[in-house]
Amino acid sequence: MAQAMKDNLLDWLRDAHAMEEQAEKMLEAQASRLENYPMLRRRVQEHLEETRGQARQLRGCIERLGSSPSAMKDMGGKVMAMMQGLGGSMAADEVVKGSMASYAFEHFEVSAYLALIAAAEACGDITTKQVCEQILAQERAMADWLAEHLPETVQEFLRRDAADLGTAKR
Ligand code: MG
Ligand code: FE
Repeated sequence: MAQAMKDNLLDWLRDAHAMEEQAEKMLEAQASRLENYPMLRRRVQEHLEETRGQARQLRGCIERLGSSPSAMKDMGGKVMAMMQGLGGSMAADEVVKGSMASYAFEHFEVSAYLALIAAAEACGDITTKQVCEQILAQERAMADWLAEHLPETVQEFLRRDAADLGTAKR
């Protein structure tokens, strides 16, 4: 494949790898803080495992293209800035803000993999394309789950908050 194309593909794979490392940190924090929303906690833990696998798979693609994890760049800051407007683990409605932020983040991931799939295809890198298609499906499934369960999370939060149980927050 043309070197310039390959360089762009590698660049975006490194971005995606940094994004997944950031996702891992966020999901870890979320899973450890959730106390009263067991279904959400379970799904977050499940996606945490998927996310670790995604980072491994991306590392494999980067290495196959002749680069190394040491060349990875840090996109964590950018992602964090995006999340700050939505998240806020100190908020009294943490579980609701967190679910909204997660939903937005999963779509950010979806857009990254759509771009990577197109780039891998242009480069004729079928393996990377297939890896990214698999990851894309996991991100979409997580986004769908969050959308599907947001109403009950919100209603459970409202119920707990109204009952003043002190257990609504997370
Ligand atoms: Mg991911
Ligand atoms: Fe994800």
